[in-house]
Amino acid sequence: QHYSSFYSPFLHPKRRRSRWRKTVMASTSHTPAPAHSKKDKLVVIMGATGTGKSGLSIDLATRFFPSEIINSDKMQVYKGLDITTNKIPSHKRHNVPHHLLGEFVPDDVEFTPDDFRLQADNAISDIISRKKTPLLVGGSNSFIYSLLVQEYDPGLNVFDDRFDSDSVSSSLRYNCCFLWVDSSLQLLYDYLNKRVDDMLESGMFEELAEFFDSDRMRNNNSVSLGVGLLKAIGVPEFERYFKMYPPASVEVKGEWDPVRRGVYQEAVREIKENTRRLAKRQIDKILKLERAGWDLRRLDATTAFRMLMNGDQEWRCVWERQVVEPSVKIVKRFLDE
Ligand code: ATP
Repeated sequence: QHYSSFYSPFLHPKRRRSRWRKTVMASTSHTPAPAHSKKDKLVVIMGATGTGKSGLSIDLATRFFPSEIINSDKMQVYKGLDITTNKIPSHKRHNVPHHLLGEFVPDDVEFTPDDFRLQADNAISDIISRKKTPLLVGGSNSFIYSLLVQEYDPGLNVFDDRFDSDSVSSSLRYNCCFLWVDSSLQLLYDYLNKRVDDMLESGMFEELAEFFDSDRMRNNNSVSLGVGLLKAIGVPEFERYFKMYPPASVEVKGEWDPVRRGVYQEAVREIKENTRRLAKRQIDKILKLERAGWDLRRLDATTAFRMLMNGDQEWRCVWERQVVEPSVKIVKRFLDE
């Protein structure tokens, strides 16, 4: 029997009603899931933006079949801005089911870590009830933390600099295998700069033009309010540009005057800077979790990134050898335990 993926409290006592209504029908049938025990296994792929987590998650999900992926990137939970927020495109998902990816309509309401704790827990119960392995993948450490800790206090931001790692709980409610994809920061910065250019090539600017041209944005010029998807890197940075040059007046880029080109380039510069800052903050949060005793297995992608940046096509082999193969070994041991 197919239920709407809007979790009804009547399906199972664990499945509480949330204020979030999903926008899609689930493709799998939802039989009531048993309450999961502390022993439930969960593979968690962490890392800064741009480190290749999504690709690795597909590599693992296709090797450790059957698996399903739960997104833990706080901008990717919303429907829309797929290029801007870097959602893994459908053709790269290799039919691996994804949960909490682009499922929530961003009606100017924030999807909070507390919402995530409930929704992702439901998704995990559902996946496990169907005898599949859940993989949690995404860069938002506040989401990962809220979901995994035994006792979660929504009023306490443990990542705030005012608190040291003693405030971070290491008592977790699942049996977790943590993979952390990392790289030297400078190389990651170089790569992220390049990735922004690639995203613009792939249609990020056009996607943002459409976003700024939507009824929602025309009726309510409230990027400054900064809730939900309005915070996605790319939106605030391009606000000035689209105020000066309304999206409906798109002209061929080659014919832009120098002022217009300058405003555009400034937006791109800010996007690159804010993306680098995001990556740095994400790594700092991961280090804090590690200091608090989270057992993270670090996979060093530095050499693969260096080769990629040098245009060496062999980077894929190095990625396979230094990131994918060790991850496969770690996950295999974990699942066999
Ligand atoms: P958290 O800190 O809660 O773990 P996070 O790692 O996503 O989450 P933040 O420091 O909260 O990082 O985010 C910094 C900025 O980057 C915010 O404006 C956020 O909305 C934006 N951001 C985060 N992820 C993405 C993404 N996938 N695409 C675009 N912008 C993003």
